[in-house]
Amino acid sequence: MESQKKYKPAFSIEFFPPKTEEGKIKLRRTREELARLNPAYISVTYGAGGSTQQGTLDTILEIKNAGIDAAPHLTCVGSTKENIKALLQTYINNGISRIVALRGDMPSGMHEMGELRYASELVEFIRAETGDHFHIEVAAYPEIHPQAKSATADLEHFKRKVDAGASSAITQYFYNADAYFCFVDDCEKIGLDIPIVPGIMPITNYKNLARFSEMCGAEIPRWLRKHLEDFGDDVASLRAFGQQVSTQLAKTLLEQGAPGLHFYSMNQADSTQAIWHELQLSN
Ligand code: FAD
Repeated sequence: MESQKKYKPAFSIEFFPPKTEEGKIKLRRTREELARLNPAYISVTYGAGGSTQQGTLDTILEIKNAGIDAAPHLTCVGSTKENIKALLQTYINNGISRIVALRGDMPSGMHEMGELRYASELVEFIRAETGDHFHIEVAAYPEIHPQAKSATADLEHFKRKVDAGASSAITQYFYNADAYFCFVDDCEKIGLDIPIVPGIMPITNYKNLARFSEMCGAEIPRWLRKHLEDFGDDVASLRAFGQQVSTQLAKTLLEQGAPGLHFYSMNQADSTQAIWHELQLSN
């Protein structure tokens, strides 16, 4: 963890683009509440295959216009270099200077991989087209990406993204701090030296969390799963317990030198706010 301790911790938040008018109004309220925390930046996810392209741009511009640093996610799967170049130019024209570069997952029904196969190729492309304009975030997987052949192969592929010009990384969420510490130590051993910020997924709904974790390869440890199952329909108790677990995890990570936290807010203010206040986080 030594290499991480020299970075000033940065605390950021993630949204997804709302699909309905009601969702847009709700997200505006969430954004106003979370803006009071003074996040380092707010990022907005992007549907692979460009399905939420306009929604991502609209949400990013609202955040930017509210005076907050905004970071669009950008995926390359199913896309062309021309499309990506045009989108990068749109972001540059709108004063955006931070981007989260990802491969994405092929949406069902789509068969063309796209011109860039991996996130490392996307990072290389962004650097070739726009030089040092963007601070580029990439994804990291302390519990190993589900499609990786091995932990070693996944680490090598992460190294490619750093070598291609990534500025820092955000991890997939996890509930086992040791997975993160081990990953960071492995990165250190092969000379990787960028901030690797843990992603925190507040626990608010067990069924959704279990389904999503299954898909993205994040492990819910047995003890945690068993407790969450016990709450059944008692949402208030589940949230209170989830908050305690996430706060303790975040505290442990920061005490050991994690260079910040990235909150997967799920467009809700409460859990992120509660953890933020409890740990007295500030940028
Ligand atoms: P990559 O780094 O390209 O890795 C993908 C897989 O390919 C890994 O298994 C890796 O080991 C392997 N690999 C990489 N390079 C090579 C190579 N040269 N040869 C062989 N194998 C290789 N998805 C979205 O659709 N939209 C979002 O906005 C979004 N935001 C995210 C934000 C964060 C912080 C994280 C952690 C994930 C996000 N995702 C998002 C999900 C992400 O798109 C998926 O996890 C996707 O499967 C992998 O994307 P990646 O950028 O990590 O891919």
